[in-house]
Amino acid sequence: MTDTAALFTGPQPKPWIEAIHAYVPGKSTGSDGRKLIKLSANENPLGTSPSALAAARDAAAASLYPDPGSTALREAIGALHGIDPDRIAMGAGSDELLNLAAQGYAGPGDEVIYVRYGFSVYDIAARRCGSTPVVAPDADFGTDVDALLALVMGRTRVVFIANPNNPTGSYLPRGDIARLHAALPADVLLVIDQAYGEYVAQEDEDGAMALAAEHDNVLVTRTFSKIYGLAGERIGWATGAPPLIATLNRIRLPFNVSNTGQAMALAALGDQQFVESSRIHNAAERAHFVQRIESLGNHGLRPLPSEANFVLILFEGALTAEVAYEGLMQAGYIVRWLPGQGLPQALRITIGARDDMNAIADALAALAEAAR
Ligand SMILES: *Cc1c(COP(=O)(O)O)cnc(C)c1O
Repeated sequence: MTDTAALFTGPQPKPWIEAIHAYVPGKSTGSDGRKLIKLSANENPLGTSPSALAAARDAAAASLYPDPGSTALREAIGALHGIDPDRIAMGAGSDELLNLAAQGYAGPGDEVIYVRYGFSVYDIAARRCGSTPVVAPDADFGTDVDALLALVMGRTRVVFIANPNNPTGSYLPRGDIARLHAALPADVLLVIDQAYGEYVAQEDEDGAMALAAEHDNVLVTRTFSKIYGLAGERIGWATGAPPLIATLNRIRLPFNVSNTGQAMALAALGDQQFVESSRIHNAAERAHFVQRIESLGNHGLRPLPSEANFVLILFEGALTAEVAYEGLMQAGYIVRWLPGQGLPQALRITIGARDDMNAIADALAALAEAAR
């Protein structure tokens, strides 16, 4: 605790709030303030659909409150995914919905489970409602369903899992997701966070949407921040049984998605060509980048298999992740170094444009040579 905190005699936060480490966003500038090419926040390198940008101009006046129910947007999402719009809740980013899911179903004395090297928002979501976060061990940085299930107790209220996972990129196939769900008690909420779901090939789809459609204890969350290129507008959605959706709607902020956000997301949904181009670009450039890193030879750089729009590289040789992180900044790139998430030996790199990925691979090759 700092001296100023010790001297502070004003209102004291709840102890569980004080225990929260605020979310650390991906940076866009170097330590010297220089603007860098940002591959630290898994944003879409292709930008945003032109139709979404055009829709921003036609959005309802800023002086008017938005539609509190995001009706047109929910109907369009429902039509695209074959979901009854009444089974969809909108959020200011899926981050809001993840927090609401914990708040709605867990409180002091309850437990919320997520996996080690899982998405850092789950820890905040668990703590801010006073519940106890329980961290399941990983299996070589991936999700270990059995280890997770072994932690399910009478006090377990919510299980969070991202599929694909951030920051590891790991992916649980349909059978594992089904097994995880089947072993959970009916009164435990399973939240399957599919922020990167659109990057997964259709035939490898994890079955989470079907679980949310058929069972009363599954919420699936999606976002417009990643493949739709609308991270700046803060739009996410969740689907599940109507009572779950009613809980989220009861505690969300009344006007949580702005006029512009609703208009842009609606237009973005209508441009599936942009989504498809983003998916194809990502799959090709991710494969190319991983192949370049693997061809560096015996330098101890290990890219983990990824189904998302980023790759986590483990630095297991002479070149450390910290030195590589600084070196990439010198080369003009900001990526994500994650010592705060227990990954001081790893860098998470968003898949960007071909030239940038080649420049990063070149820089890592030079850094690895220099470290030998
Ligand atoms: C980016 C991300 C999100 C959500 O982002 P929003 O912008 O709040 O929709 C959710 N989960 C994971 C795993 C993510 O990486």
